[in-house]
Amino acid sequence: MAKILCVLYGDPKNGYPKSYARNSIPVIEKYPDGQTVPNPHAVDFQPGELLGSVTGALGLRKFLKDLGHELVVTSDKDGPNSEFEQHLADAEIVISQPFWPAYLTAERIARAPKLKMALTAGIGSDHVDLQAAMDNGVTVAEITYCNSNSVAEHIVMQMLSLVRNYIPSYKQVVDGGWNIADCVARSYDIEGMHVGTVAAGRIGLRALKLLKPFDVHLHYFDRHRLPASVEQELNLTWHASVESMVKVVDIVTINCPLHPETENLFNDAMIAKMKRGSYLVNTARGKICDRDAVARALQSGHLAGYAGDVWFPQPAPQDHPWRTMPNHGMTPHMSGSSLSAQTRYAAGVREVLECYFEGRAIRDEYLVVHNGQLAGVGAHSYSKGNVTGGSEEAAKFKR
Ligand code: NDP
Repeated sequence: MAKILCVLYGDPKNGYPKSYARNSIPVIEKYPDGQTVPNPHAVDFQPGELLGSVTGALGLRKFLKDLGHELVVTSDKDGPNSEFEQHLADAEIVISQPFWPAYLTAERIARAPKLKMALTAGIGSDHVDLQAAMDNGVTVAEITYCNSNSVAEHIVMQMLSLVRNYIPSYKQVVDGGWNIADCVARSYDIEGMHVGTVAAGRIGLRALKLLKPFDVHLHYFDRHRLPASVEQELNLTWHASVESMVKVVDIVTINCPLHPETENLFNDAMIAKMKRGSYLVNTARGKICDRDAVARALQSGHLAGYAGDVWFPQPAPQDHPWRTMPNHGMTPHMSGSSLSAQTRYAAGVREVLECYFEGRAIRDEYLVVHNGQLAGVGAHSYSKGNVTGGSEEAAKFKR
């Protein structure tokens, strides 16, 4: 019998939903590159249900109970007295979502001698000290592609929100106002602007494709160049460095994973290279941007706007400057956890657990660390090392 420790965000304030805004969600069978969506033997949930919160339990309760395993589901993840810490010592599998990450630091991994797998219900396993996972033979896996398109939609929404000044204008309405000049004094069209992505992986490329019909000029930086046919189809300009791209674009979107090479990539020096009045949208990971450098650039007006949904740590402490800096359009980390995405990543988690318990290989495209090495998608997109430093600050949210 294995103990599976599953960390999920809490239920809605008013309780677990009894009904939903829509009766169903579209059925998606394949991702744009042909990869099949998760295909477990079965699932014990209705597509479109809230699965990412504690009561939803990723739809795993019956499945794991029937197999005789112990499932602990908690949202209490930070600090030495958390429920997570109490169960870690004898957990064989830890499941966590990036939206509400159970930070698996080297210290925590050292306190988990039975730990065999850290499974990310989503994409992005930077909340795990990958070096410590490699050193301790812990497999790390994530559900590649499950929410990439969801995030790309959020990126386009937030770019338009910033450029068109949507959020303050919406607020005018809610507050009973009608000052058109206030609404439009910071409102522009995106048409004709230059937009660039740092990384053109699954999310970055999807964002470029979604943006194309807006008649913008598209740019990208990536370590590996896209096929020439894709560059031609989207009329892309490739840049050999992030610096060369940020100098010429009006909007930057960040879509690389967080790993030692990308931590603090957007610091004071990089932001200074951006054009005055640029917009920065970061739905990748909070730590890719220097927290205070972003706040300073908004204060000075060098950046015209900043949006995204990723913070460090998560949940963001009450005094996190991104909550109050000017001209931001931040949301909590939610873009990859739409009900549509939850259906896919819950099924993906089930698929990985079936493989694990049946002794079958986990899809290569889901693996980040395996057999003491970066593996699968991890070997392609991550670098060795640890970016969990400072995550203990997440406990401050509770105080
Ligand atoms: P992919 O693996 O498809 O794409 C990642 C891309 O990043 C790859 O093209 C990779 O390039 C590139 N990359 C890696 N390192 C660097 C670097 N140093 N500089 C520039 N590019 C780099 O992943 P996704 O597109 O699906 O997801 C990307 C990230 O988005 C995730 O790692 C996660 O952090 C975040 N995410 C956020 C979500 C949210 O809810 N906000 C949900 C899902 C993901 P190459 O392989 O060519 O070297």
